[in-house]
Amino acid sequence: MAKIINVVKGTHDILPQEVEQWHILEKNALEIFSRYGYKEIRTPIFEVTELFARGVGDTTDIVNKEMYTFEKSERSLTLRPENTAGVVRSYIENGMSRLSPPVKLWYKGPMFRYERPQKGRQRQFHQVGVEMFGVKEPAADAEVILMAVDYLKSLGLDDLEVEINSLGCPKCREEFKNNLKAVLKPEFDNLCEDCQKRYEKNPLRLLDCKVESCKAIFEKPEIQKVIQSDFICEECADHFAKLKSYLDTMQVKYTVNKLLVRGLDYYNRTVFEIKSNNLGSQNAVCGGGRYDSLVKNLGGEDTPAVGWAMGMERLNALLPVPELKKLNGYIVSNSPVEALELAQKLRKEGYRIEFDLSNKKFTKQLEKASKVADYALILGEDEIKAGKVSVKNLATSEQKTVSIEELRSIL
Ligand code: ATP
Ligand code: MG
Repeated sequence: MAKIINVVKGTHDILPQEVEQWHILEKNALEIFSRYGYKEIRTPIFEVTELFARGVGDTTDIVNKEMYTFEKSERSLTLRPENTAGVVRSYIENGMSRLSPPVKLWYKGPMFRYERPQKGRQRQFHQVGVEMFGVKEPAADAEVILMAVDYLKSLGLDDLEVEINSLGCPKCREEFKNNLKAVLKPEFDNLCEDCQKRYEKNPLRLLDCKVESCKAIFEKPEIQKVIQSDFICEECADHFAKLKSYLDTMQVKYTVNKLLVRGLDYYNRTVFEIKSNNLGSQNAVCGGGRYDSLVKNLGGEDTPAVGWAMGMERLNALLPVPELKKLNGYIVSNSPVEALELAQKLRKEGYRIEFDLSNKKFTKQLEKASKVADYALILGEDEIKAGKVSVKNLATSEQKTVSIEELRSIL
């Protein structure tokens, strides 16, 4: 026998029994997001590498370690590790800034990151996400968070924790970065290798470190004092205060987490995550925030923006597996022409119908029917002569012979 080829590490097949769950995620996304005025956008799965280097940021783990990059015709291309950069590229390229704001777009689809595969972390995973362009006011931040909560509720997930923070603007953040670096300097040798690298390039990211020894360092009182300080400027503080008051008014429960900095470079002011207590250590289902400089950085006009992305595998892990839909009827017959005619007639009317294609014995066909359908539709010689069909309820074993017209009232 030929050698079996396995699925690539960190990727998964989504099998038929799981697909129903994905349909629910997608159906609810379309339904809920359109209530808020969002339109779906589908961008390519690969883009030029520079888009992510500039869009996601070259101090991030994603760009430094996790991208699937390949050359084709001397161009460097990359499988998208996230979709905000792609949506922003499309927004600029298609002149969407000419539309009156806000421009509201949502997407779903596979993303690719070369990470260490573990529970809740794959190398190909799926995100559903939203981006809103053109509004700098905190009402926009509140609305996207509200929509995330609404979407999660529509899936039956209402015991999740919303965490928010403000990273300030590039101006006020600079002072915070310097204070943080100063207070961490004596601890430099005790930081993990990644944090030592981030120290110069992206000191805020240290706060996001998952290594226990680093977390313990950040607990020290003198370091906590800097972390907990209100470093943001008046305007940023006002933005954050308004966001909180809108969330309060809308009765969205949240906590302020000063350690929340998010992994991507492009965020400013609001950042947020939504977490579950039922997912183990990969517990974030949603991450997002405001990225007012990204459109300009990628060559567009200065355009404020805010958005989020959710991990669909992690959402699915929280949802009960729905039962597979059974067929309405399974035709049991040794007369393929009559079986085919009946099947096609009922399928045209919207019923889910299958029949035995290989002329098996009636007992075998009935066995199969009881596994896959609600009713067996028996079409033997007698039934065909009489222009009728015997219907067997496979849950109760009740059986009667009826005309095709009567059949419809039963199925
Ligand atoms: P994490 O902290 O879990 O690594 P992240 O900050 O890298 O997440 P984002 O890039 O903001 O996450 O992506 C948003 C969401 O996408 C995450 O909250 C998570 O649910 C999901 N996600 C991110 N990376 C993966 C992955 N490798 N496998 C599965 N889901 C993922
Ligand atoms: Mg990550």
